[in-house]
Amino acid sequence: MAAVARFRKPALLLALAVAFVVVWPTPGGLLAVGDLVYRWQSHTRQSSLLASFPGQAVLESDHFRVHYDPATDAAWAAVVATGAEAARSAAAARLGWVPVRGAAEKVPILLYAGFDALAAQFGPGAGFRALGAYWGGVIQMVSPSQWLAPTPPPDAARRLWTEGPLLHECTHYLVDQWVPSGFCPRWLAEGLAQYVEYKEAGYLWLEPANALATPLDPSVLYRLRDLERRFERLTNTALAYRQAFLLVAYLEESAGATSLNGLVAGLADGLDFGRALEATTGLGLQELERRWLLWLDQNLDRYSGGTGEGSQSELKNTSRLPQSLLEGAFCLSWS
Ligand SMILES: [Zn+2]
Repeated sequence: MAAVARFRKPALLLALAVAFVVVWPTPGGLLAVGDLVYRWQSHTRQSSLLASFPGQAVLESDHFRVHYDPATDAAWAAVVATGAEAARSAAAARLGWVPVRGAAEKVPILLYAGFDALAAQFGPGAGFRALGAYWGGVIQMVSPSQWLAPTPPPDAARRLWTEGPLLHECTHYLVDQWVPSGFCPRWLAEGLAQYVEYKEAGYLWLEPANALATPLDPSVLYRLRDLERRFERLTNTALAYRQAFLLVAYLEESAGATSLNGLVAGLADGLDFGRALEATTGLGLQELERRWLLWLDQNLDRYSGGTGEGSQSELKNTSRLPQSLLEGAFCLSWS
């Protein structure tokens, strides 16, 4: 195994170098090379995760492969697979984009036996309590048998939809497949994932740490440039996520779903966020921020659990709040 590994790495690097030379002269050359490296990293991580995952049973649906422990999750695996297919369809419809992938590229979903088992994947001392995570082509989630019910209750599908992480993580998966690595700002990816969750399940992440009131005091908010440059390092994670959601909500309301789709498509073509924004809305970053603040002052209440599209019980549900932040984690949804 070691000899194979030693052989494969130089061979891959050589292939990457050749690809670099071949694609560099084209406008998308840098994009293609960066994406190639990312896909390789994702494939490596996926192989490592699957090799070490204790659950040996597998259940396949059209687009997913659920890995689970048959002793505890035999009944839940099918519910998760069905929910994932529905979440994928819903997220694709909201985003206006569907990946073209073969059956051999089904997305693994790993059902973990508890919060600690999932947290352990992100290193010792991570100190977080996440319900799900998407990273490198794999959806990882705590099995519903651990947080919802030991076996699926009659309303299992509905509760998994509204209380589980599938909508959030499936959105991350689609955006990750659509936009090559590094070209989608982290705040936008989190904003889109929350926006799909809100539209489909009515869920809003609301807690004292991200409470906002009108008339709005802009000094309590992070600047857009802070979200752009250091989203994952901002101290108040709950506020950063809420602003990301509210920015996407504004973009969808002001420019429409088609423009939002065009903006992400621009990122997929290799534009940075500023240029993609200008191409689809005609706005610069400063003007976006100025208009967003004006809009927020008038519309914050609609996204504060009072008159949203989702059920009131879900909008006021605080059971999934984070207990702490996983430093540098990619795309988590919180328990
Ligand atoms: Zn996320």
